[in-house]
Amino acid sequence: MRAHPRAQGVRSAPEAGPPGHRPVGLASATVSLTVVRPGLIEISRAEGVKESWPSCSLLECAGFRVLVDLGHPKEDPDLLLSALRAQGLEPADISAVLFTHLHPDHIGHKELFPDALFVFHQDERLAFYFEGDRTLRLEGSAVLELSPDTFSHPRVSEEWPALQALGQHVYVRHFPGHTPGSLAVFACVGGQVHALAGDIILNRDCGERVTPPGSSWKPHLIPDQMRLIAARADVVVPGHGAPFECRRSRTRERHRRVADRGRAGPAQTEKTW
Ligand SMILES: [Zn+2]
Repeated sequence: MRAHPRAQGVRSAPEAGPPGHRPVGLASATVSLTVVRPGLIEISRAEGVKESWPSCSLLECAGFRVLVDLGHPKEDPDLLLSALRAQGLEPADISAVLFTHLHPDHIGHKELFPDALFVFHQDERLAFYFEGDRTLRLEGSAVLELSPDTFSHPRVSEEWPALQALGQHVYVRHFPGHTPGSLAVFACVGGQVHALAGDIILNRDCGERVTPPGSSWKPHLIPDQMRLIAARADVVVPGHGAPFECRRSRTRERHRRVADRGRAGPAQTEKTW
């Protein structure tokens, strides 16, 4: 497998959302996804984690820009700034930051975005690392309250129509496991489903081996979550690695080749969430 170029700066026509989704707002809006900075993790047996920073991705719709995760607090903030500037953006251009979870390595340099809405799952407030740490108080944040449905949208406030427009292409699913409030973001861009998996899938190797990250709250829940993401996504943007094509893409490609040879193969299925 290889890093998938379509994860970089692709625009889409409007797509249908997941079952039960009612599109709201700007019907003609398009969405783009840019991996601003692919994540990385280097672990050695002797030294543990040697180097680590999270993937930082940008979703944009109708001028509303959402970053998914930020950076490691120990890093030079200029690394994040220059990655944004390479996209022609300054922190003031960012409308919201959605955190896949609130482990400290994903929320570094949030002070660069004083005007952005910070969004995270409500169950992260229950996590041990949130207690007593003032740096984790995200004043003015919106908390996602996801319904217990299999697929659900964040409840967004009426005053954010652009965020509702983004919801035609993007949905968020709660995957408690790595942390109590871990999220994955699914975005349909250019006819392909991209999963921003956070640390549910650390990198391609962990995804292929179905290996949960070591520092997880309930690691036994994660393998099923990894399989569900792989089954639904064409491209995975992992929490600490470069984007990669996943099983769903390969299966579809196999079906296409069979169909091309004129043999009876499984019917090409329409995109499903
Ligand atoms: Zn992480």
